[in-house]
Amino acid sequence: MTESEDPNPSEDTGPSKDTSADVRKPIPRPDENSAGYWTAAREHRLAIQYCAPCELLIHTPAGICPQCDNDDLDYRDVSGRGKLYSYTVIHDAPAPAFANMLPYIVGVIELEEQDRLFMIANILDTPTESVKIGIPMEVTFESLTPDCELPQFRPAHFNTTGD
Ligand SMILES: [Zn+2]
Repeated sequence: MTESEDPNPSEDTGPSKDTSADVRKPIPRPDENSAGYWTAAREHRLAIQYCAPCELLIHTPAGICPQCDNDDLDYRDVSGRGKLYSYTVIHDAPAPAFANMLPYIVGVIELEEQDRLFMIANILDTPTESVKIGIPMEVTFESLTPDCELPQFRPAHFNTTGD
């Protein structure tokens, strides 16, 4: 019970309570800016914050548009497709809940809708020796709790142009 300043003192049930040991992964806590992202994720949609006046897609969610300072931001569904821009292989678990995943890959995915629109996520279903920068990726959703689906990525199964 160390939290004293909660800007949203709504009903704060479940997941944040530290039950037993640290066997569960940390649960993201949506805030005013990211609520649209998490609501969409629960429905297995990837939605990215969007600034209508300047048409910029924004991630991670922000309070104002970094390009035009508009603060009336909305959410827009995106395809969930992109390319692996960069990655790192994790060999040491940052918390006990991650131990059974080792080794795992954390990637930077550049979404196809906009240059340099990056997301950081775990890369699932991928042996570490087969991961390569530039491979096509698609979003997938990891169920953390009944109320929380976490957008992650995996190598794309859609047909890329060419081969
Ligand atoms: Zn803008």
